[in-house]
Amino acid sequence: MKKTALLIALVLTLTLLCSCAHESTTTLYVMDTFAEITLYGGDNDVMEKIENTLFDMERELSATNGKVFELNENGGGSGTSSYIESLLFQSEMYYEKTGGAFSPYLGALIELWGVGSKNYVPTEDEMSAALSVSKAENVESNGKNFVELKDGVRLNFGAVAKGYATDVIKEILVEEEVKGAVISIGGNVYVHGAKPSGELYRVAIRDPKGSENDWILALELSDKFIISSGDYERYFEKDGVRYHHIFSPETGKPCESDLLAICVIADDGVMADAYSTALYVMGRQGAIDFWRRNEGFELVLVGRDGTVTLTEGIGDNFIINEQKDYNYEVAKR
Ligand code: AMP
Ligand code: MG
Repeated sequence: MKKTALLIALVLTLTLLCSCAHESTTTLYVMDTFAEITLYGGDNDVMEKIENTLFDMERELSATNGKVFELNENGGGSGTSSYIESLLFQSEMYYEKTGGAFSPYLGALIELWGVGSKNYVPTEDEMSAALSVSKAENVESNGKNFVELKDGVRLNFGAVAKGYATDVIKEILVEEEVKGAVISIGGNVYVHGAKPSGELYRVAIRDPKGSENDWILALELSDKFIISSGDYERYFEKDGVRYHHIFSPETGKPCESDLLAICVIADDGVMADAYSTALYVMGRQGAIDFWRRNEGFELVLVGRDGTVTLTEGIGDNFIINEQKDYNYEVAKR
């Protein structure tokens, strides 16, 4: 059930998989979702290196059975890998930049609700207790191999781990001089280099109101990270109320966003992933204001009112699915 839900990735990669000699594709279950890796050029060793890296990263970054879980249980500890240190460092930066809308310190709250696992609706007291420990100042790191977690604060990298994994895979692709590749981890996509045909990649953005193969528009691009968030990705229903997995760090409840989905296009996976979560929390106007104040990324915002907003940097590099009944607008700087 869970795997099926996760398989329904927000972004569908619409790459034309030609039968060229050097193309290879692998699908694996990692980081609580399905990852699909297609390489154009590059040999089996590269694929194996990527797979091993993903499993290594999962062992470090998982808050349910990895090193992060161990740190959370023990109030911190030593032996943290460069994966944890780097992601903690970058997460602190995006926590600051987004005014806390993206917060890696929400582990206690996320575990309390357990969306997709125990599916529990906490009391107000339980939520306030979890929020009261979820503070940046409760986390101290020496930047190398030691983290201290005070007062029961728990780390959770669920909002950035997949984006970070695509960053690390990109490094491998560059190092190994792989000509082209499409990496999709649970619908979070990185498109690398050139397709054998020389065309740009097409990455379709899923219609959050439709089924898994329904798309709203397709972006044409390369060497970009395309990362999405939405309330339909993970949720449960209790007494007729739907509770989703992206929390407002202010209320401790699933945020009441006027967006159905958001897609961030950037040159950096952690940035795209942190912003996809934070800007979903901010809602349409908050997200557009944030985009106007900050550089390095573009957005596709799918509103509950049926309006799709694209930021102007996307230019003409997209194709609209004419069969869909959305209104389109462009946000200017
Ligand atoms: P994403 O799909 O990238 O938006 O990440 C959502 C996941 O991040 C959730 O399943 C939670 O584990 C975690 N999360 C939820 N709300 C937040 C938040 N405001 N800041 C950081 N992580 C969050
Ligand atoms: Mg995210």
